[in-house]
Amino acid sequence: MKIVMLGAPGAGKGTQAKMIASKYQVPHISTGDIFRANIKNGTELGKKAKEYMDQGLLVPDELTVDLVIDRLSQDDCKKGYILDGFPRTIPQAEALDAALAKRGEKMDFAIDVDVPDENIISRMSGRRACTGCGATYHIVYNPSKKGDVCEVCGETLILRDDDKPETVQKRLAVYHDQTQPLIDYYTGQSILKTVDGTQDMNDVFAAITEILEA
Ligand code: ADP
Ligand code: ADP
Ligand code: ZN
Repeated sequence: MKIVMLGAPGAGKGTQAKMIASKYQVPHISTGDIFRANIKNGTELGKKAKEYMDQGLLVPDELTVDLVIDRLSQDDCKKGYILDGFPRTIPQAEALDAALAKRGEKMDFAIDVDVPDENIISRMSGRRACTGCGATYHIVYNPSKKGDVCEVCGETLILRDDDKPETVQKRLAVYHDQTQPLIDYYTGQSILKTVDGTQDMNDVFAAITEILEA
């Protein structure tokens, strides 16, 4: 099962990807998480990526594509995977398809978690991310049972710098400009499925499960 999650920043891609990964026992591959781990570890890639992320811009394709293609060749990806936050541009999608085609494979589903811009700012300003394990919470819709520390690992929860409203506006504009065209791209491949992301997260998950098991 090979799945691409599409949707605006804050639409709930990560939340759903984690639930799918746990139910179907396939890896959840998030380019945002990979970049943040690199920033935390002070790598060269992390330093470069941070410059773009802090401004709400996309990290250039040259720094992103090979990273993901390499990751997909690891053993745990043999049964499939969920891509969260990649591809984000048409050239990334084309590079992904070319890499898959070389192995005689193709993507099975592109799931668009549809949430209007009006809902995004409150989603993002309430998001809290764990500095330890990357788990995400929401102060209203999905609070940590342990207050401002992570339920999973006990580390501190933070508001990501790029989740502040000024940067979110920029990220939304970048999304509409560079990422939304992927909806047509995957519609053209007849693998696009849209779910209403404004529902409760368990209802969104039920809609996705129905698609995957149809
Ligand atoms: P969100 O979960 O809110 O959509 P992500 O964690 O996926 O945010 O991404 C955070 C930032 O990391 C993006 O704003 C962008 O700068 C960078 N990024 C993540 N994935 C990609 C990608 N595939 N291509 C370019 N930049 C990316
Ligand atoms: P993305 O990966 O698309 O950027 P996240 O999965 O991180 O989005 O979700 C963004 C924020 O919204 C998080 O704080 C998350 O807990 C919350 N959230 C996710 N899905 C829902 C939902 N269906 N209803 C309300 N809040 C949600
Ligand atoms: Zn944690």
